[in-house]
Amino acid sequence: MFDDALKQELANYLKLMESDLSISFSIGEDQASLDMKQMLDELTELTDRIKIEAGVLDRTPSFSIHRADGPTGISFAGVPLGHEFTSLVLALLQSSGRPPKVDASLIDRVRAIDRELKFETYVSLSCHNCPEVVQALNLMSVINPLISHTMIDGAVFSEEVESKEIMGVPAIYLQGEFFGGGRLTLEEILNKLGETVSASHFENKEPFDVLVVGGGSAGASAAIYAARKGIRTGVVAERFGGQVLDTMGIENFIGTLYTEGPKIASSLEEHVKHYNVDIMNQQRVSSLKKSELIEVTLENGATLKSKAVIIATGAKWRELGVPGEKEFKNKGVAYCPHCDGPLFKGKHVAVIGGGNSGIEAAIDLAGVVSQVTVLEFLPELKADAVLQERLYSLPNVKVIKNVQTKAIVGNGKVEGIQIIHRASGSEEQIDLQGVFVQIGLVPSTEWLGDTIERNRIGEIIVDDKGATSLEGVFAAGDCTTAPFKQIIIAMGNGATAALSAFDYLIRN
Ligand SMILES: Cc1cc2nc3c(=O)[nH]c(=O)nc-3n(C[C@H](O)[C@H](O)[C@H](O)COP(=O)(O)OP(=O)(O)OC[C@H]3O[C@@H](n4cnc5c(N)ncnc54)[C@H](O)[C@@H]3O)c2cc1C
Repeated sequence: MFDDALKQELANYLKLMESDLSISFSIGEDQASLDMKQMLDELTELTDRIKIEAGVLDRTPSFSIHRADGPTGISFAGVPLGHEFTSLVLALLQSSGRPPKVDASLIDRVRAIDRELKFETYVSLSCHNCPEVVQALNLMSVINPLISHTMIDGAVFSEEVESKEIMGVPAIYLQGEFFGGGRLTLEEILNKLGETVSASHFENKEPFDVLVVGGGSAGASAAIYAARKGIRTGVVAERFGGQVLDTMGIENFIGTLYTEGPKIASSLEEHVKHYNVDIMNQQRVSSLKKSELIEVTLENGATLKSKAVIIATGAKWRELGVPGEKEFKNKGVAYCPHCDGPLFKGKHVAVIGGGNSGIEAAIDLAGVVSQVTVLEFLPELKADAVLQERLYSLPNVKVIKNVQTKAIVGNGKVEGIQIIHRASGSEEQIDLQGVFVQIGLVPSTEWLGDTIERNRIGEIIVDDKGATSLEGVFAAGDCTTAPFKQIIIAMGNGATAALSAFDYLIRN
């Protein structure tokens, strides 16, 4: 179960436990039960602070974590290894009383919840978006005795997954009803529960010297460069971390051979927090205008003022915009092959898009599903030759070029896709169970309206100092016309914009 390196790592973590715990488990004769029991036995060999005992739980195999004063509310159904291993370690440490690394204001919001909440999250162990949700809900359970949470491995409880028609993970259920899907932070979960931060919270904020809109690679870099000049800096972001949160392996973050997006995102947050930066996360900006100062209005109605603003709102997945896409999201239409691929095991799926991300997705999925059909709008694939070579070597992949997607069809879930062959105009329906959309990204700049000049595809037009058409407003990263959309480029753009904003401030 645990190899020697993992045992050593786990033993070191378990030394950090602050009190004794007990684990109640329910097992059967199946392989997952045997694996779970072996994992629990090995856990107890590494520490004498954890005792295990057989009990009666809702699901088999599963186990729940208890403190001396009663249950923590945390249960795991299935074996939390793979990406969920960290969730297990954190659940044990936090249940034992080890303080979480979370803002005190968020902990207060969780404590203030005064109703019973029973959460269940279906995950796949290869999903890199799932641990954030599992860890947030586990933490809520540790903090507030009215809250409980069970992580459920969809591969072990496939009948539940089938009966609930789950086709995307993480899939979160609250009191048995679908609550949300995809990556959600603790703050996002609280907002979804209605525990939002009101506009009055922002009322008495003094104007900023530099206000950064967006908390991705570009925004974080801009905030650090601005704060290091000793000026009053704020960051307002819908989702701090941005796109890197959705990226698995990264091999071109210069100076680091290999890392993962969520790791970069948390070190960005840690770095920004090291300085005196006012981070306003989970807040969406809806407009910007220039009066005496620059005014940025949030969706909750609050207005923030600043002498200079840096826009770093990045980009988001491009949608197909065909009938059925919205209707079947999480019911067969997916955007993240790493996360949702395992749920299509043995099924036939389409990948729409023949660029690098589409072909990488198709290669990845071909190892899990029964058949992959790649649909490309142009007469040729655009992906790198090496990827195409690999793709064409796979026996269960079919490539159809020069086709347009007309609609995604089904009844409650995806059952097929309708395509038009562009050369002949003839139509075809392919029966399949999943559609992965991989047709690139669009800049998140629609909220700007006509205030700032943008190009034909919505990118903010910037000069080589990151200045926009509106004096005092700078922009950086994927939302701009800066060529090439990459992490270090966005970070460099962020630094340039911050230094330019500082230059602007000392001259005005
Ligand atoms: C699947 C995938 C894999 C990738 N792999 C790599 C790789 O291996 N190497 C590499 O270098 N690059 C990679 N990239 C590209 C890289 O992630 C981006 O170029 C980079 O992260 C862009 O950073 P950004 O700060 O400009 O934008 P984003 O990361 O998009 O950040 C935008 C920020 O703005 C916020 N925001 C958006 N709208 C609003 C609003 N209205 N109000 C408030 N906040 C808002 C967002 O919540 C977010 O915080 C990959 C991208 C994807 C999608």
